[in-house]
Amino acid sequence: MNIIEIISRFENQSDCIAYLERVRWGDTPTCPYCKSTRTTRNQHRHYCYNCKTSFSVTVGTIFHQTHLPLQKWLLAVSLVLNAKKGLSALQLARDLKVNKNTGWRIAMQIRKAMSQREQRELLTGIVEMDETYVGGKPRKGTKNNPPGRGTKKAPVVGAVERGGNVTAKAVKKDDMKGRDLRAFVRDRIDTANANLMTDDYKGYLGIGRILPHDVIKHAEWYVDGHIHTNTIEGFWSLLKRGMFGQYHSVSRKHLQRYVDEFCFRYNRRKMPPMAAFEYTIKRGMGVQA
Ligand SMILES: [Zn+2]
Repeated sequence: MNIIEIISRFENQSDCIAYLERVRWGDTPTCPYCKSTRTTRNQHRHYCYNCKTSFSVTVGTIFHQTHLPLQKWLLAVSLVLNAKKGLSALQLARDLKVNKNTGWRIAMQIRKAMSQREQRELLTGIVEMDETYVGGKPRKGTKNNPPGRGTKKAPVVGAVERGGNVTAKAVKKDDMKGRDLRAFVRDRIDTANANLMTDDYKGYLGIGRILPHDVIKHAEWYVDGHIHTNTIEGFWSLLKRGMFGQYHSVSRKHLQRYVDEFCFRYNRRKMPPMAAFEYTIKRGMGVQA
């Protein structure tokens, strides 16, 4: 859904609450504390007869920040979801007319809804795997740090099923060895039903013992028929443009969240916009695995 649709569909707080209640509970409000359905409502507050607690639909969800109108939350979800190259917290704050701390908090909450859970669906078929370095422009030279030294670029390992989903993980600089890459493969790829394509990085040596493995030698021939890693490289360039344009100073601590955000958008690219929006809302409310 784009912002015009959000604004016309969710004109006021009541519209938003009704929508969130339907997404979270269907027709039967359920106590978030004891799961009882013996509840009653007084406008937007609910009361549980079982544990004698009152609650609202946003309790325990990413939207639980009471002073912010829910329309802004729904707009924020739509803006982040539709921003192919990512959206900085600052831009989000401007778009929503909130202060920059609130913008940052909203962005982080929405990223929580977009985080990769344990990979339930393993990648199958032709899977391209690659590694890249993102974030942190090279520092300008100082006395102690000559130009080019001490860049804060962090490695990310990723794999994509051709025509399907992508998965990626921010790793430490030392965790790019063969053993780490093999662990990533076992964790996220259905090795019995996949064919791996990588470049000739030495970390991939011996990975053919786990699953069929084709190597593209960039130096010799860029695309050798179907043996290429163009899909994952396309994803990297999307990720890097987003990082570079919007997130100049992504700290290591938050890098995985940003990577997850880009994976989430990529993996929803074929979903109808309304379905992708609702899926994200469900994740934000904890009702979607
Ligand atoms: Zn209860």
